[in-house]
Amino acid sequence: MHPAKIPILGELTPGTTQRHLVKLPGAALAYDEPRPVISVAGAKPGPALFVNAGVHGGEYPAVEAVIQLGKTLDPKKISGTVILMPVLNVPAFRTRTPFVCPIDHVNPNRVFPGDPRGTYSEQMTHALINEFVGHADAYVDLHGGDIPEALVPFVICRAGDNEVAEKSKAIAMAFGLPYVLTVSKPIQPSTGLSSYAAAAGKGVPSILAEAGGVGQMQEDAVALLVQGVVNVMRHLGMIAIDTPATTGNAPAADTAASTLLTRFEWVYTMSAGMWYPKVAAGHAVNEGEQIGTVGDLFGDTVERIVSPVNGVILFLTINPSVLENGLLMGIGARPD
Ligand SMILES: [Zn+2]
Repeated sequence: MHPAKIPILGELTPGTTQRHLVKLPGAALAYDEPRPVISVAGAKPGPALFVNAGVHGGEYPAVEAVIQLGKTLDPKKISGTVILMPVLNVPAFRTRTPFVCPIDHVNPNRVFPGDPRGTYSEQMTHALINEFVGHADAYVDLHGGDIPEALVPFVICRAGDNEVAEKSKAIAMAFGLPYVLTVSKPIQPSTGLSSYAAAAGKGVPSILAEAGGVGQMQEDAVALLVQGVVNVMRHLGMIAIDTPATTGNAPAADTAASTLLTRFEWVYTMSAGMWYPKVAAGHAVNEGEQIGTVGDLFGDTVERIVSPVNGVILFLTINPSVLENGLLMGIGARPD
């Protein structure tokens, strides 16, 4: 099928980049501003790749990477179709709200594949899966550390030995970030799934890639995510190996293989207070090692934080004020 049929975008013309303003279906979304979407319909037939950012509204390098892909991917050099949505969670983006959507205070990345009769976030994720992801041959969801989080670049996909999981893992390795984390269960208890797990459940190979954080625009993180998507396009056969995909000067592909991690352990504080980490994102830690303390406002230590596993700190909360049961970090565990 060429170019890809994404009914909500209408007719796509091979060899062109088109800009769309999309009203997503769903009663709760009826008054939303239209979301920008860019379609890059290659001159030659090939797979349909859907890429979005902004499931979390404060992860700016991911948003910028999608914007740059829309400006620089050259449809004349591409086989297949790339569909790009810079920001899904527009209410969070407009209000600089981390983690959740401010309309229903739900983390959209815990309610995939959504529900057309559910809350705002459930209707939004349902629309994303139904109108975009479900029409794609592969799906890349770009993230980063949210406004209070630092991180080391990594890719997540679902573990498993079925065909979709194996294709997803191959896409994750092709993306080319320092770490690839395969997960077999939801990271937090939740009503739904994360984007990549829901997409895989619908038979679409998919990954979630993270770079940058702390509410800033790190150009190196933007470049990693842009290059990662180009690497995935090469992996899928959408670009000839020796042809630059973009009109810009994307850096050369990183040929170092990603380190594989096989479980995501999130570390919380029981007590509210001041958080004093002894580690940084990217540090290796050992099981039982003290990795920080939480103090009260008199300066007394109320909790010592210890690593539950041997692994690598993938993201770290960098703001000192933490709440009871507050999230401190995520550690990618090394295979046993
Ligand atoms: Zn995120």
